[in-house]
Amino acid sequence: MLFANATLPDGRRHHIDVQGGQIAALLPPSGDPTRHAGTLDLGGALVLPPLIDGHIHLDKTLLGLPWVPNQAAGNRVADRIEAERKVRATRTVPEAETGANLVRQVVASGTLHMRSHVDIDNQLGLKNLHEILKVRERFRDLVTIQMVAFPQSGILRSPGTAALLDAAIAEGADLVGGLDPVGIDGDLDGHLDAIFSIAERRGVGIDIHLHDSGESGIHQLAAIAHRTEVAGLNGRVAVSHAFALGSVPTDLAERTADLLAEAGVAIMSHGPGGAVIPPLKLLRDHGVEVFGGSDNIRDAWSPFGNGDMLERAMMIGYRANFRHDEELALAFDMVTAAAARVLGIVPYGIEPGGPADFVIVEAGSLAEAVAARPKRKLVIKAGRIVARDGVLVP
Ligand SMILES: [Zn+2]
Repeated sequence: MLFANATLPDGRRHHIDVQGGQIAALLPPSGDPTRHAGTLDLGGALVLPPLIDGHIHLDKTLLGLPWVPNQAAGNRVADRIEAERKVRATRTVPEAETGANLVRQVVASGTLHMRSHVDIDNQLGLKNLHEILKVRERFRDLVTIQMVAFPQSGILRSPGTAALLDAAIAEGADLVGGLDPVGIDGDLDGHLDAIFSIAERRGVGIDIHLHDSGESGIHQLAAIAHRTEVAGLNGRVAVSHAFALGSVPTDLAERTADLLAEAGVAIMSHGPGGAVIPPLKLLRDHGVEVFGGSDNIRDAWSPFGNGDMLERAMMIGYRANFRHDEELALAFDMVTAAAARVLGIVPYGIEPGGPADFVIVEAGSLAEAVAARPKRKLVIKAGRIVARDGVLVP
């Protein structure tokens, strides 16, 4: 198959020669594409690498079900955890079904890799993990799904959870999660002892939800960076949200960024509407890997979201007050190459020898693709058309 007249992200025009699901070569545009048997002329359309959702919750979504109003009584993380318990209790459709609804939607929008957190606590046990393992297996030819064993109810305040997290890794979860060691569990060392010991014992990475803001959040980030270095987990630890970095004076944010960069701790932001976001450019300038994700989509936490990572890049850019093309390029990088580095997706990108995975859109540049979020004309996975005009090909 030859995808002729493709405009690559850097603006070069090439024919993409695909053989056996791989990119065999990027041919000069002067060559005559018609001598190839299976030629699809893209007419100069922009070809993007596959989009990556670095933080999603496949088990929480209610996508495809009748509308469920948000029931949180207050604005704290604890209020939302409580509200979610009520939704869980009345839920009749399995998470594997709603999770599948979401996977179909995100793949149709060009996402071919994701990291999903999966709730684990002493009431749920490993039920949600098992449900999303089914989703991973069902869609394994379309999308790679990393799973984080996520202690949504805390670890110390939900006795038995640490053992469940460990069991989750044994049963197929790829990383161990954490949640506000101080704000939820009230015990920084106790929480970090639990998750770092599992990570070291099982040889897996860590991804911690950290909403705690201000000096407390900064103190926790420094502790996470320190433990990452001690455990030799450089490059395998991420902190999601990290609102604290955006809520303290710049010099403190810079000092913390240096600690994170040295330890190889990445920061995930989804461009939240209601919180101070981390200073993305400052972090990147200090060598910290920043990447993006959807976080909650149509669940007990958020009524919003659709899993479209170009739209997510736009929202991150909007919240970060990005305007210049280089800034929009950073937002795009967060949902593509940077996320690939954090998730360990190798090889990645539109290069000879790599998988023939890409997304074709009508846009004049990456910056325009972020701003306009054009329709995904085609999503190609291993050289095969898997979605057309935003709809999965059956
Ligand atoms: Zn989350």
